[in-house]
Amino acid sequence: MKRLFRGLRRPPDASYDVVVIGSGIGGLIAANLLARDGARVLLVEQHYMAGGYCSTFRRGGYTFDAATHFYPLLGNPETLTGRLLAELGVETRWVKMDPVDTFHFPDGTRFDVPAAFDAYLAMLVAQFPHEAAALDAFFGEVRQANLLGLLRYFRGREAPGLAPYAELTVRQVLERHFRDRKLKLLLTADCPHWGSPPGRTSFVFDSMLRLSYFLGNYYPRGGSQAFADELARCFEERGGHVLMSTAARRILVETGESGAGGDGGRGGRAAGVELETLRGPVSSLAGGRFRVRCGAVVSNADLLHTWEALVPPEHVPPGYVADLRRLRPTYPCYLMHLGLTGISPETIERLQGYYWHDWDTDQAAAGAVDFKLFAPTQYEPAMAPPGGQVLIVQKVVDTDYDVAEASGGWPGHKQAVDSFVLGRLEQILPGIGAHVAVRTSASARTSWRFTLNHHGAMLGWEMSPEQVGDGRPDLAAPLAGLYTVGHWTRPGGGITPVIVSAQRAARLASGHRQAPLIMHSKHQSLSVEPRGGAPAAGFKNRREFSERRSRTRRLKGTCNR
Ligand SMILES: Cc1cc2nc3c(=O)[nH]c(=O)nc-3n(C[C@H](O)[C@H](O)[C@H](O)COP(=O)(O)OP(=O)(O)OC[C@H]3O[C@@H](n4cnc5c(N)ncnc54)[C@H](O)[C@@H]3O)c2cc1C
Repeated sequence: MKRLFRGLRRPPDASYDVVVIGSGIGGLIAANLLARDGARVLLVEQHYMAGGYCSTFRRGGYTFDAATHFYPLLGNPETLTGRLLAELGVETRWVKMDPVDTFHFPDGTRFDVPAAFDAYLAMLVAQFPHEAAALDAFFGEVRQANLLGLLRYFRGREAPGLAPYAELTVRQVLERHFRDRKLKLLLTADCPHWGSPPGRTSFVFDSMLRLSYFLGNYYPRGGSQAFADELARCFEERGGHVLMSTAARRILVETGESGAGGDGGRGGRAAGVELETLRGPVSSLAGGRFRVRCGAVVSNADLLHTWEALVPPEHVPPGYVADLRRLRPTYPCYLMHLGLTGISPETIERLQGYYWHDWDTDQAAAGAVDFKLFAPTQYEPAMAPPGGQVLIVQKVVDTDYDVAEASGGWPGHKQAVDSFVLGRLEQILPGIGAHVAVRTSASARTSWRFTLNHHGAMLGWEMSPEQVGDGRPDLAAPLAGLYTVGHWTRPGGGITPVIVSAQRAARLASGHRQAPLIMHSKHQSLSVEPRGGAPAAGFKNRREFSERRSRTRRLKGTCNR
């Protein structure tokens, strides 16, 4: 697939208003919004593909989504996120899913979730007439929690009515309303998708994500990469610079008189990034590591990576990393990517969905669900050669990452999960093995290797009642000039919440323009104050430069909140 954007083929400029670290959907949307508002932005990505968890890879003529495959709301221009994409000029075309999802139960039956909510509710009432009144009451609460949650977590407004729901898990609300175990499974059968069991998933967050499916759940034409690349193209069209295969190694902190504070009184502010281009033309031109100055840094990278590897240790507030490490990450997801030949679209359609063999959804990652099967070729046949099909197996696994890492246990882990998955697939579709043209698999470690997400977590921190809202790290970091974006920060994980975080990160960071001050860091001292009549890079004249400098200085002390 031809890449839609160019990417820099020369070293970046010496300074920018904002450097965005990471091209996940959070980084890409934030970069677009900043560039739209006139900021000079550099987006750096350590991988050679843009998109993070929304990228694809090719093997033997098949194109596979590395992770994400459900894109709620994005193809519906009447929703806020759908409208945002239109405003940004994103030309991705979307295929609407109907049914939205399929569940295969331990008793051998199946349930297809229709795209229209009324049809869904009618099907539930028809199949569980003895729970009809409870269903009405439950969905009344779901709607209420959804509205209040959107107000509080997505828009940042006060929502006093949220209090009775804020501390509840999905499991608690289900137990309050229902007795039928099959219905309880049905209503949480897609919980592996949240990366946490219903007993630890916020009822409010679950309600918000659940109802969003009924405003349209989509798959991008051309696959996930087409969407990520289109965002990168739009960003470049606005004058943004994309530097691929380039890792941020250090966030440079300016201290002393010009530092604004925020890092526990040390008077520091993020004022640049040390980068390393790992491959491609820029790696030889720039000669390894180099530095770029900026007025603000937006990190889309994993939060622990940001604070443990990128921010200099002397600027990390005491106890901050320990607090982060006390939060619980979402489960990783084991993936098997299969390129198939000689299997009809009708057969593949029947195969899709979650396969539960136990009624207890809280045991999902311990094996209660065998896996989820997803076939992108149902929505975009071009993902496979003519006549071929792509089948993606997703299995949440409660892996002890540190133990596997320390004991060199990954090959054994992969072998065991592969063998289970292939055996189970043979039961579901006998003879499927003979149709496999391409097979690859990815463990939690693979997810980490390509995205640097801590332990390969699917959606950042778990969205448990204690870890959403004020319990989740804020985007305004405890270091002036540094903001975080993506699923490790507020409001949460998944494509829609990540887009919401990008909108807020862009608003916060747009208060900064590259401050043309003397920068002292542990690593270097750069004098870039423009002399004589020459305006600083990015400014039309000395007057504009002075106005922006005054604004930047006025923001000191409050600039991160
Ligand atoms: C298997 C799986 C399936 C999923 N399915 C869905 C789904 O169907 N629907 C849904 O809504 N959500 C889904 N999710 C969750 C969703 O994909 C994520 O929540 C979301 O994509 C995270 O976006 P992000 O912007 O936080 O960044 P990420 O996608 O995590 O990207 C971060 C980027 O930063 C880069 N980076 C990190 N460190 C550095 C550095 N030092 N220098 C330069 N670059 C750096 C990484 O390479 C990466 O590209 C799924 C996740 C997984 C794993």
